[in-house]
Amino acid sequence: MTSLVLLLGLAAALAEFLGGWLIAVRGRWPQRAQVILLALGAGFVLALVFIELIPTSFEAIGASASMFALAGFSTLHLFEHTLVGHLHFGEETHKEKMASHLAGISAFSGLMVHAFFDGLSISVGIQFNMLLGLLVFAAVLLHKFPEGLTIGSIMLSAGFSRQTVIRAALAIGGATVLGAASVVVLPEIDRVWLGRILAFSAGTVLYVGATDLIPEINKCEERMPPLMVFGGIGLFYVSDLMLQKVLG
Ligand SMILES: [Zn+2]
Ligand SMILES: [Zn+2]
Repeated sequence: MTSLVLLLGLAAALAEFLGGWLIAVRGRWPQRAQVILLALGAGFVLALVFIELIPTSFEAIGASASMFALAGFSTLHLFEHTLVGHLHFGEETHKEKMASHLAGISAFSGLMVHAFFDGLSISVGIQFNMLLGLLVFAAVLLHKFPEGLTIGSIMLSAGFSRQTVIRAALAIGGATVLGAASVVVLPEIDRVWLGRILAFSAGTVLYVGATDLIPEINKCEERMPPLMVFGGIGLFYVSDLMLQKVLG
């Protein structure tokens, strides 16, 4: 199980790195692919939270799950937007706000914390059951490539060299793997604390879907991307049913 979780963490990190690398070597943005992935990812992530993560957390620890979910939601808010001046998903177009290296590093740190919790969510999900873990992995994977594009674009706008952009993408991928590596200690943790960690990660995943991904899609002037969010919800529903069949 440990090696499976690490493998999933590595796969997610690879998708992230590819996004950052693409920006570093080409400096260009695959707009169309990005917005479709963001929209599918948003729908998938939100369906995962409401259909699986919240009910499973409540089953595990009862009403106190809501406090831990709120703590998870607030933690990402603190690291992505309170301590950090300027961070959003999608292409970094506000060059004036990214004029200093410091702005770039602060946005980078926010994404590092986010990426760590992406990895942790996969690990705690699998700790609960294989179905939940694989669904969390799919949700993370769907938004990892656009996340890599995001970090690449931030670092490039902040005036860093291509080499540094690639290193930043590697580091963010590394944070995901580090979060997944929590699989080594999680089995030692008792069931109640595991439930609390799951509820916490439900809050972080909700934050990613509702505040990192959805606003980027809503900024779009076309009707297609917002519609694709429903596609993501449908995709989750089908994946959930299929996995349930396969895993029995
Ligand atoms: Zn911006
Ligand atoms: Zn993420």
